[in-house]
Amino acid sequence: LAKEQGKGSVAVYDHSLHARAMDELSVRIQLRQALAQEQLVLHFQPTVDLDTQEITGFEALVRWNHPERGQLPPADFIAVAEQSGLIVPLGTWVLRRACAAGAELQAGAVRPTMAVNVASQQLSDPAFADLVLAALADSGLPADRLVLEITETALLADVDSAVTALSRLRTHGIRVAIDDFGTGYSSLSHLSRLPIDVLKVDKSFIDRLGGASDDTSLVEAIIAMSAALNLVLVAEGIELVEQARWLHRNGSQQGQGFLWSRPVELERAQLLLGSGVRRLLEPVELALVPA
Ligand code: C2E
Ligand code: MG
Ligand code: MG
Ligand code: MG
Repeated sequence: LAKEQGKGSVAVYDHSLHARAMDELSVRIQLRQALAQEQLVLHFQPTVDLDTQEITGFEALVRWNHPERGQLPPADFIAVAEQSGLIVPLGTWVLRRACAAGAELQAGAVRPTMAVNVASQQLSDPAFADLVLAALADSGLPADRLVLEITETALLADVDSAVTALSRLRTHGIRVAIDDFGTGYSSLSHLSRLPIDVLKVDKSFIDRLGGASDDTSLVEAIIAMSAALNLVLVAEGIELVEQARWLHRNGSQQGQGFLWSRPVELERAQLLLGSGVRRLLEPVELALVPA
């Protein structure tokens, strides 16, 4: 087949495949070093109560301070980490570091939660629940301040071991959120049997609110579903005040997005939590009736 396409096209085909494989290999090797050399950092993005506009917690989001390429977003390395199995030690590092940061943020009057993203390979590791409990014990973060964020796909990949681990962790007070909700394939009956507390509606649904192609029907259905299952609803990726206003009026409890804050360093998160800035927008702004 390759011969039929002629020499030139074979060379191009081989080259791009080879380049991509090399790229993944070098990212993998460098990522292993990054873990050992503390090149990874966590940023923290607040979630807010849509009623009071106060911070309820933070989500820990990993970045890689690459020595040559600068700061890389998770999109540039999480997939490679998953393919190579490095996501398990990386995820443990994130978990421990996020719990430590979460414990530091408990000093003031507000006791924010700390949400940590968990990959499917972490969840199917039989040691996962013990790792989480050890991270809590070592950090001093109370169990009821930790939220584990898991996508529908990751949860359903190995549903039996996921349910076992998460059920055990929930007896300690840890909460479980379904991340990027709406992009996977969970049916209502699936959801009702899973040990979960929070639904995080994916940004792609929030994007349909308030813009030119204003489409509220899917978000309305998700809100109704979360109410029926007694879950807390968090809307992700809110950028516009109109979106926050619509969500507030229609029963979403919490929001997260650039409207309030991008993910920030721990020091800045401390400042956001401090009195005065803790309320990130005026509540009256959300209560306004749109024109
Ligand atoms: P996610 O868990 O759904 O996190 C939310 C992502 O949306 C973050 O991107 C955040 O910066 C971005 N975001 C929040 N609000 C807005 C907004 O208003 N507008 C826009 N355009 N974006 C917004 P980030 O930090 O690049 O992370 C991307 C994804 O990488 C995360 O999606 C999560 O799936 C994954 N990830 C990040 N950290 C970790 C980690 O420690 N472990 C694992 N397994 N995955 C991680
Ligand atoms: Mg998340
Ligand atoms: Mg998400
Ligand atoms: Mg998302």
